[in-house]
Amino acid sequence: MSVLYADVQWQPVLDAVQQAKQIHIIAHVSPDADTIGSQLAVYHALKAMGKSVVMHNRDIAPYICRYLPAVELITHGEIPDGIACSDVVIAVDAGSLGRLGVDPSYFEGKTLINIDHHASNTQYGSINVIDARYCATGAMIYDLLQYLNIPLDASSAAAIYAAVLTDTASFRLASVSADVHRMTADLIDAGADVELAAQSIYRSHKPARFELLKYALDSLDICHDGRTAWISIAHHLYEKTGLCGEDSEGFIDYARSIEGVDIAVFIREEKPQEWKVSFRAKSPCDVGVVAGKLGGGGHQYAAGCTLFGTLDKVQKEIKHALVDMLSL
Ligand code: AMP
Ligand code: MN
Ligand code: MN
Repeated sequence: MSVLYADVQWQPVLDAVQQAKQIHIIAHVSPDADTIGSQLAVYHALKAMGKSVVMHNRDIAPYICRYLPAVELITHGEIPDGIACSDVVIAVDAGSLGRLGVDPSYFEGKTLINIDHHASNTQYGSINVIDARYCATGAMIYDLLQYLNIPLDASSAAAIYAAVLTDTASFRLASVSADVHRMTADLIDAGADVELAAQSIYRSHKPARFELLKYALDSLDICHDGRTAWISIAHHLYEKTGLCGEDSEGFIDYARSIEGVDIAVFIREEKPQEWKVSFRAKSPCDVGVVAGKLGGGGHQYAAGCTLFGTLDKVQKEIKHALVDMLSL
């Protein structure tokens, strides 16, 4: 095994962890497999060090992560007292404090360790390890484990594999280097089950998802001379199919897969008049910048934000924010 990046400053994390009485590991809101996989891998590592560790998020882990060892130990909702008494909090894969979905006062008097690969990270921690060279926060945890001298066990390997697989769109992004594949080989050697991951992440969807997909594809609209593709799903369609946001994960890939499309936009109405917007880009467009203008954030190729009002209003706001990017 070898580290992906040897120049990352992990020592402050080790110092804080060694002094901690209880550590709360937290993922971002609407968690994806990178944040949950990172959370679990840190959990396994700290447990191996004999630390007292708890995992708690605002939102429930997505069903695609339910096969990962120890995922059932992650609690969600209001933070109970037994967790709130933690003296160290480790946030993984969250670009800003707001993404943790917790009142900022929660962190007063605690050491907040912010580990993330978003270039847009606001450095909100008392210790910040931010590195946009990494394809996933899970890959940062792979390096952290080596810094901590914790051997990669099957549980951490599975968690990091899920993080990397999903954040690289199944090893299809420019962030996937030969070193990322070498790391993946280590993960498989350590016991990450590739077939189980594929089965759980890509082949365990509810039949109703495909009802929803029909509505989504029906809404497909190609604009800007074929350079942008738009998909939207209104709240009542989630109600009609009995589904929620996580069940439309991946729909945006249909828009992105169209020849000539530089930017794909997926707008879903999470609650009435509250729209979760996802962007995907192909070079040279940077949707992280577009999402940033709209109060969200993300990476060059994948970003998002939340907007309010009617679909028409939201689409106009997005089109306005896109103008500069499309002149590239
Ligand atoms: P998604 O389209 O939900 O898969 O999100 C793609 C990426 O955009 C995520 O990995 C985050 O980095 C980022 N992102 C999504 N929504 C937000 C938001 N509201 N604020 C900041 N970053 C976001
Ligand atoms: Mn994430
Ligand atoms: Mn990530």
